[in-house]
Amino acid sequence: MSGNAQPNGEPLILVVDDDPATRLIVRRALERDGYRVEEAADGAAALECFERLGPDLILMDAVMPGMDGFTACARLQRLPGGGLTPVLIITVLDDEASVDRAFESGASDYIQKPIRWAVLRRRVRRMLTESRAERHVNHLAYHDALTDLPNRRLFADQLEQRTELARRKGQPLALLFLDLDRFKLINDSLGHDMGDLLIQSVAQRLMGVVRKSDVVGRLGGDEFTVIVESVTSAQDSAVIAQKLIDTLAEPFMLNTHEIFVTVSVGIALYPFDGDQSGTLIKNADAAMYRAKEHGRNNYQFYTAEMGARAMERLALETNLRRALERDEFLLHYQPQVRLDSGEMFGLEALVRWNHPDLGLVAPGEFIQLAEETGLIVPIGAWVLRSACRQARAWCDAGRAGLRVAVNLSGRQLRQRNLVEVVRKALAETGLSPEGLELELTESSVMHKDELTSSTLWALHEMGIRLSIDDFGTGYSNLGYLKRFPIDSLKIDRSFVRDITTDPDDAAIATAIIAMAHNLKLEVIAEGVETNEQRDLLRERGCDAIQGFLVGSPAPAEAYTDVQGALSKCSAKDPADHAV
Ligand code: C2E
Ligand code: MG
Ligand code: MG
Repeated sequence: MSGNAQPNGEPLILVVDDDPATRLIVRRALERDGYRVEEAADGAAALECFERLGPDLILMDAVMPGMDGFTACARLQRLPGGGLTPVLIITVLDDEASVDRAFESGASDYIQKPIRWAVLRRRVRRMLTESRAERHVNHLAYHDALTDLPNRRLFADQLEQRTELARRKGQPLALLFLDLDRFKLINDSLGHDMGDLLIQSVAQRLMGVVRKSDVVGRLGGDEFTVIVESVTSAQDSAVIAQKLIDTLAEPFMLNTHEIFVTVSVGIALYPFDGDQSGTLIKNADAAMYRAKEHGRNNYQFYTAEMGARAMERLALETNLRRALERDEFLLHYQPQVRLDSGEMFGLEALVRWNHPDLGLVAPGEFIQLAEETGLIVPIGAWVLRSACRQARAWCDAGRAGLRVAVNLSGRQLRQRNLVEVVRKALAETGLSPEGLELELTESSVMHKDELTSSTLWALHEMGIRLSIDDFGTGYSNLGYLKRFPIDSLKIDRSFVRDITTDPDDAAIATAIIAMAHNLKLEVIAEGVETNEQRDLLRERGCDAIQGFLVGSPAPAEAYTDVQGALSKCSAKDPADHAV
């Protein structure tokens, strides 16, 4: 909805104030700078204007009769595109409480009356450039480049919202998981260009069958997902699944080729087959596989016996509980290197579980379970202590200034005594706070609650650096970057992987770097494996890199020999990924 600026058109600014004289003066000032201006006299009118006009920026008076500016701003965040449209709150109230209120309600910034025009104009200009960069990053990051459908991230977010809505309305919802049959064959025989064309045509047909309110997403490859809201019976969703199968059964004409495809569909119903969006997707996926087993070109419902994996999970959980007592965790470290000097300035600590039967288990296999069961709290405290102890050892070995980065899960961040746990780890090991960086996930800092805020500020004031991990993979507006004392962003490796071949990924990375530098944040790219990726990142102004190119995660000893560590970073690493 937002970002309606016509191609080459001037940005549209919505001025909301109950005082017509103020509106007039503001309008004059903005129009003189070449902006288009619309006016609204209160919060309710502002929301109506937003939906109709999709302004690029909103100037909002705080105090108005009827719906005030704070309320309007808060409601705006819940409208489609609302979270991406910057709001500048104008207030005569300069007490801290109303400034806090402005930010809590989702405003990007505030300005006080009487308005100083030079300040207003500068701020408007800055907010417009920033928000355009943010929106650009957001659109690229949350839509599939080929079909422009919501990608996995956005789809998962939408599913979460819809299940929440379904819960409140007490109405079931169906999730359909579609996978084209033998798509690989088409790709292999007719080429990837034809494969892409087919995927685009399939997307269009699917969109043509579902209702406007239903959500169609592309999870990747030939996998599509559909949310069907308000189904009254399982039969409802079966009817829609059959419609989707039928519409794809019509031949596709692609560049003179007539192509026939069929599709297998899995159906999971909320709340019966799972009450979490992740579970629903997983179960619909499993049902889709059963459809494949039933000879393809049909639909299947998820059924209980498919939950066999649940048993495995239970066993894993039992073992995970014992792992701490049995001292089965260990840390590997991966170097982080500056792109200008080639200097190794830090190492990220990555936990591993030395399972008695399974051997070394990667965190991807157990961190989520640890989160869900709360076991992440003691495991995380162990990781923090061990990493600090190792950093101190490096310091004693003559590598003062070398920083260790520790991953913090959302659950840890919401722990009331986190600041104490960190302070204790530093005190016990004698590591100075500058030697520690904490990596946070986007989703964990999205919360605007008091606890997150006070924890992050306290850690910052202690002198600990904070970074955002896997940046670009969380679906959120980026307001938190201004709200919290963040020092750096780590570009997720999914954007780095194809950066030299996929222009979309290169554009995302470039936009992230530009935006971060605008906000005075450092940028580190994750998962850098080749010289070409490194060179491109360097050319785009990225500050530092981490990845197999400069060193794989390895036991601390691999990076303990000072000279060796440096030479390894520029030559070979322990896992023998030659540079
Ligand atoms: P992360 O924090 O983004 O860590 C980087 C992951 O990327 C590591 O996976 C690392 O092995 C992998 N990686 C590094 N360089 C490359 C590369 O060049 N190419 C590719 N393809 N991959 C590379 P790992 O060790 O399996 O960790 C996975 C995730 O588990 C981490 O992602 C982090 O989110 C989480 N994790 C690890 N240790 C901890 C921990 O102590 N606490 C918490 N809460 N999470 C942890
Ligand atoms: Mg990390
Ligand atoms: Mg990461």
